[in-house]
Amino acid sequence: RAKSAGGNRFELADPEADARAITRHGLTTALPTALDRGEFFIEYQPLVHLGDGGVRGAEALVRWLHPQHGVLGPDRFIPLAEHTGLIVPLGRWVLEQSVRQARDWRERHADAGPMRINVNLSPCQLTHPGLVQDTVEILERAGVDPDALCLEVTESALIGADDDLLKPLRRLAEMGVDIALDDFGTGYSNLANLRRLPVSVLKLDRSFTQSMQQFPADPVDLKIVEGIVSLAHSLNLAVTVEGVETGAQAEQLRILGCDTAQGWYYARPGPPERLHELALVDATG
Ligand code: C2E
Ligand code: MG
Ligand code: MG
Ligand code: MG
Repeated sequence: RAKSAGGNRFELADPEADARAITRHGLTTALPTALDRGEFFIEYQPLVHLGDGGVRGAEALVRWLHPQHGVLGPDRFIPLAEHTGLIVPLGRWVLEQSVRQARDWRERHADAGPMRINVNLSPCQLTHPGLVQDTVEILERAGVDPDALCLEVTESALIGADDDLLKPLRRLAEMGVDIALDDFGTGYSNLANLRRLPVSVLKLDRSFTQSMQQFPADPVDLKIVEGIVSLAHSLNLAVTVEGVETGAQAEQLRILGCDTAQGWYYARPGPPERLHELALVDATG
C-alpha cells in the first residue's frame, strides 16, 4: 500500500515485510553474543538402517533458544550466521558438542554397534583455512575415532568445486571421516562429477521421499531413484534418504535399494537422552 498523500512519513508500505526486516535485524544484532550466552543447543535425529531397522547414527541439528522469540530453527539464523561470520565459531561448537556426544554414545552402548554422528558444514566453513586442524583437534581432545564422524556438505556447495575447495575434504576423508553429499538431487550436478568428489554417502533430498507418498508412486520418480541408487552403489557410495514420514515410504525406499533413512516416521530430532533410549531398544531388540 502506498503512503497516504502528505501523510505520515513512517507509514509502512508493507507492515509484514517490515516486521520481518525488524526481526532479522534484531536476530543479527543478538547473534554474535548468543554463543557466549549459551543460547544454542543441538537436537539429534537418528539414522536408521532400512534393512534391519537398527539405529546407525544421528544427525546433529542446531537450534537457538532466543530469549524473546523462543526456539528458532536453523533456517532462521544459519544464513545470518554465514553472513556475519559467526558460522565458523558456531560450527566449531556444534562439531565439538556432537563429537563428545558420539563418544558418550559409544561408551554407553558399546553393544549397539559403532554409532556415527553427522554434522552439517556450511560453505563458509569449507573455505575456512582452519577446518582440517580444528576437526583433528576436536576428535583428539574427545578421544574419538575419525570414523565416528560424518560431515554433510550440500550438493550445491560442491557444484563446480575446484581442487582448492576439495583439498580439505580429501584430507578429512583420508583420515577416515565420512563425507556425505546432502540434499542430493536438487543441485543439477553432473553425475559423472561424483567420481571426483571425496564423498562416501549420498543423502537423497526429501523431495524424492515426498514423491513416494502417493500410491502408486510416480513411475518416473521411481526410475530416477532407482538410477541414483544403482549409480551410487557402483561408485561404492551409501545412500541415505531424508524426510521419511510414513512406513509406506520407508518400504518403497528399501525396495529401491536405499541403505539408511531418517525422518519423523522413526523419530523427530530430539535431545541426546532420546538417542540413548533408542540405542537401548535397538540393543535389546
Ligand atoms: P538438512 O541437513 O537437510 O537437515 C534435515 C532437515 O529435515 C532438518 O531440518 C530436519 O529437522 C528435517 N526433517 C527431518 N525429518 C523430517 C521429516 O520426516 N519430514 C520433514 N518435513 N522434515 C524432516 P532443520 O533441523 O530445520 O534443519 C534445516 C537445515 O539447517 C538442515 O537441513 C541443514 O542444512 C541446516 N543445519 C542444521 N544444523 C546445522 C548446523 O549445525 N550447521 C549448519 N551449517 N547447518 C545446519
Ligand atoms: Mg544435513
Ligand atoms: Mg539434508
Ligand atoms: Mg534437506
